[in-house]
Amino acid sequence: MQISTNQSLKPLTTQINENGNLSIGGCDLVELADKYGTPLYVIDEKTLRSICSDYKKAFEKYPKTKMMYASKALCTSAIASILAEEDFGFDTVSGGEIYTVYKAGIDMEKVLFNGNNKSYDELNLALEVGVGRISVDNFFELALLNEIAQSKNKTAEILLRITPGIECHTHEYIQTGHLDSKFGFDLTQIDNAIDLIINEYKNLNLKGLHAHIGSQIFETSIFPDEIEIMAKEIARIEEKFGLHLTEMNIGGGLGVKYTNLDNPPSTYQIGELVINKLNEVVEKYNIEPPTIFLEPGRSIISTSGITLYTVGSTKQVPQGTKYIAIDGGMADNPRPSMYQAKYIAEVANNKENTPKEKITLAGRFCESGDILIKDIELPQLEQGDIICVYNTGAYNYSMASNYNRVQKPAMVLVNDANSEIIINRETLDDLIAHDIIPDRLKK
Ligand SMILES: *Cc1c(COP(=O)(O)O)cnc(C)c1O
Repeated sequence: MQISTNQSLKPLTTQINENGNLSIGGCDLVELADKYGTPLYVIDEKTLRSICSDYKKAFEKYPKTKMMYASKALCTSAIASILAEEDFGFDTVSGGEIYTVYKAGIDMEKVLFNGNNKSYDELNLALEVGVGRISVDNFFELALLNEIAQSKNKTAEILLRITPGIECHTHEYIQTGHLDSKFGFDLTQIDNAIDLIINEYKNLNLKGLHAHIGSQIFETSIFPDEIEIMAKEIARIEEKFGLHLTEMNIGGGLGVKYTNLDNPPSTYQIGELVINKLNEVVEKYNIEPPTIFLEPGRSIISTSGITLYTVGSTKQVPQGTKYIAIDGGMADNPRPSMYQAKYIAEVANNKENTPKEKITLAGRFCESGDILIKDIELPQLEQGDIICVYNTGAYNYSMASNYNRVQKPAMVLVNDANSEIIINRETLDDLIAHDIIPDRLKK
């Protein structure tokens, strides 16, 4: 079976160059650290485009497939521009994400707005800029969106976000499809919602159903199980309400390979299972082949991203752990402290002849829990060495904070031995830009 890029531990262009340094996208990582400073997020454009093509090829036998990138994994103007070139639409979850893709010149018809508590202002913005689909999450939002659409004399094209009651074996915080979830309509609430849409909410046009089961999924059965439930609902809704739903959004969630213990399925395996299942349910329930939407986030951007750090202080606990501190940590990558997420790392500069030892890579933030990688074998490190942590493209920058009032890192895009800055490093003035000292406190 063909492999896909989400099954790679490292960006596809990772090499050791003639200086014995690590290079990605043809760029020496030590030179990048020198030029742009650390911490530094680096995105490899080849790897990113390669997974996009893996998804498209995996689904080419089902032409009614729409690829939507779940922007929350990493939403920046340049990344949005690349994905638009790859013919992806965008799943957005806030006014900020909508604004980012809008300003990047994306065709807003290819944008979906999703979320469990969208505000009046966000829904208003979505209708104003012409977002193609809104996935309505709950009864409150049905009423609110209808009211806003009515006030603008518009019809909102919507999906209903449902909770299909499928559990996947991922971390509790990244599971969303089980019954007791905060997201979406319970299956028993769908009829009530459709009644309201048909009889009261004249400015809503229901196009289909939407579900998303969870994230970092390795089990391939999840997607066919989900399609079975949604197809059954679509047939039932047609029968009961005479409402013809043509769209099925099966969410995202495909896993990536953070360490050698992770074995995510390929896009090709998922594609085959999904297409076979769609063909089966179309027959079984006698429904029109639906347009399907896929919303991968992590599997699109994770593998193409790495983070560079510089080694600083060291602490050897007598008879205990050796801590090596780097110049970043939980503010630029909160995943280890939030979900005990595991990463691998290497030294970017040439340490070929240095003996290895087991150490713990500690962050620089004021929390004992700010440990980036516990117990990792690396060549004996010295101050100034450059560390490369792999698979940081997804849910790193997008979850980054200014904890300890530390500036967020810069991000560069690398390709064909070129590097281009796509996010500037924050400055000290950026950090105080929104601060106000009331007049009475001014000196
Ligand atoms: C988070 C999310 C995704 C993307 O999940 P990944 O695990 O990053 O692929 C897709 N759809 C919805 C509705 C989401 O909330």
